[in-house]
Amino acid sequence: MTAITRFAPSPTGFLHLGHAASALFSAKQAGPDGRFLLRIEDIDQTRCRPGYIDAIYEDLGWLGLQWEEPVRIQSQHFSDYQQVLDRLTDAGLLYPCFCTRKDIQSEIERIGNAPHGPDGAHYPGTCRNCSKSERAGRMAAGESYALRLDMGRALRQADGPLSWYDRKAGKQDATPEIFGDVVLARKDTPTSYHLSVTHDDHLQGINLVTRGEDLFFASHLHRLLQELLSYDVPEYHHHGLLTGPDGKRFAKRDKSKTLRSMREEGMTAVEVMALTGFA
Ligand code: GLU
Repeated sequence: MTAITRFAPSPTGFLHLGHAASALFSAKQAGPDGRFLLRIEDIDQTRCRPGYIDAIYEDLGWLGLQWEEPVRIQSQHFSDYQQVLDRLTDAGLLYPCFCTRKDIQSEIERIGNAPHGPDGAHYPGTCRNCSKSERAGRMAAGESYALRLDMGRALRQADGPLSWYDRKAGKQDATPEIFGDVVLARKDTPTSYHLSVTHDDHLQGINLVTRGEDLFFASHLHRLLQELLSYDVPEYHHHGLLTGPDGKRFAKRDKSKTLRSMREEGMTAVEVMALTGFA
């Protein structure tokens, strides 16, 4: 298999050593015969800054990485994601959720013992059972809403049981139900990480998704979305996360560890690569 991989950072800050490791890992998996793509995941327009996109190009270029052009910038493709959401809505798999965080919290406290998944407590399903007329009325009144996946229906519709393959962890039985009725379009962003990443990986022909193991569980849900949307199923390789001398993983708030600050301090790309283990 000729690997087609991608590195998909969100421009919410400068890249750090953990990003460098992830990008180098992805490029290495593509190898000289494969294809390595860069994708900018900037759907959250409140947190992403165009200046950080330029910084991503600069920092990755400095590391010696090369990627295919044009780079897909997710914020330029909201209409694509809308079409995917429409498909799922037409299939009866999404419903509008008008709840505020506070509404959800109080309902969870009221029912007690809510199941928990990778994103916290499952949505208690308040808006799942709204009547068509109530939905239409609230939407017509301009109430803001998110779109949630009706997980029960989705599982019934999927041609399960589903599985996916991780090159490090082996074959996985997909358990998307761990997410409950997950949000696929947010109130403030007309899509979501899960929807955009699954769609784009399909659209760009990515056949080997590489990313950090902090996103391992997301793949259970992505596998279900692939099934519902008749998308090809890539292989995965969730890599370990690089940690600093304190044993903690690098994070964007950790300013001293950005690639640009290392460069400004006079470190060479080769020295930085050595720190990631990819020298
Ligand atoms: N954009 C995501 C992030 O920066 C990564 C998405 C992915 O690789 O699937 O954490």
